[in-house]
Amino acid sequence: MSAIRKWETDFGAGCYPMREQILVKGRGALVWDAEGREYIDCVAGHGVANVGHAHPAVVESIRDQAGKLITCSATFYNEPRALLLQKLNALTPPALQRAFLCNSGTEAVEAALKMARYVSGKSGVISAMRSFHGRTLGALSATHNPRYKKPFQPLVPGFVHVPFNNYEKLAAAVNADTGAIILEIIQGEGGVHIGDRDYFERVRALCDARDIILIIDEIQSGFCRTGKMFAFQHMEIEPDILCVAKAMGGGMPMGAIFFPDRFRFAAGLHGSTFGGNPLACAAALAAIGVMLREGLAIQAWEKGQYVMEKLRGLSSPKIREVRGRGLMIGLELRERVKPHIEALARQGVLALPAGTTVLRLLPPLVITYEQLDRVVEKVARVLEPSSP
Ligand code: PLP
Repeated sequence: MSAIRKWETDFGAGCYPMREQILVKGRGALVWDAEGREYIDCVAGHGVANVGHAHPAVVESIRDQAGKLITCSATFYNEPRALLLQKLNALTPPALQRAFLCNSGTEAVEAALKMARYVSGKSGVISAMRSFHGRTLGALSATHNPRYKKPFQPLVPGFVHVPFNNYEKLAAAVNADTGAIILEIIQGEGGVHIGDRDYFERVRALCDARDIILIIDEIQSGFCRTGKMFAFQHMEIEPDILCVAKAMGGGMPMGAIFFPDRFRFAAGLHGSTFGGNPLACAAALAAIGVMLREGLAIQAWEKGQYVMEKLRGLSSPKIREVRGRGLMIGLELRERVKPHIEALARQGVLALPAGTTVLRLLPPLVITYEQLDRVVEKVARVLEPSSP
């Protein structure tokens, strides 16, 4: 075993199901391992590298900012943060005037849950079955998968889980203590399940009628992945609190919530040492600039249509369904997905599982059509009826 694998195995946290590749370099939608093998990267750091690996604009921005000021806590004004906030403000609904900047998805969800309690004075939260919102105790309470939660009980009280995309079940769960509803527009980790427009419009109306805060978690679906800057923009709804992370920082750790002015915490009630640090803000500014200049939302939409049509055309009896929006794609298989993910890696394509039977593709949005063709060809090969 190489020293790298050994040290990570022996001294790392041990909580990740490790893949065998040692990744050393990335460009666009490609990554290379320590043996020099090339892969088309449909993992993209779990849906982070939307602008592609080592995009020159992001690299240059980080380099430039690193030479000026790497850290600057949020109690001081700072230019990259101000520029980013101003840019984000133009991209999000006018009602969501303010942003709290943090460092990860789970932190964004924590901030949203705290804010919902603070504003509503209620502790009840309705979440969906198959949802994933993160691993810290509050976000984990909103997450559904019992396997992730059981060893850590008791979790935060007040959370109930109802079937996703079923308005009646959700409405029936509302009671006088319901302060918030938290939903993904497309459930990513839960298997790439897409919420219906009608469902979300009725949920929005319910929240308005019952004075419930609607938290939308776009940590995976945000920043052009589904063919819009945010997936809620495919519909006629707006969240009360929007959670984002992953692709926001162009690869740097970053998350945020967007919320109305009237929801703001009193000074000192919430915060983060690293939240909104100059390096991450500079990277995010550059990454968002790339998304807008290169039209990554429309690219994601068109490439998604293209590749999903090809995947749907595959005749493998192992595929139950191909679903997705933009470049957030799931192939539901009739069997366990893990061996196929390993086989795909041997064929030079890195892909993700979502649950036990869904093969998930979250490529950089700059992936080329030729690379998408190669992905389809390799998926077809590993899902041939005769393959193991
Ligand atoms: N919410 C959603 C929808 C996610 O997909 C994830 C991560 O996969 C999270 C929250 C948690 O984000 P993080 O891993 O950055 O804490």
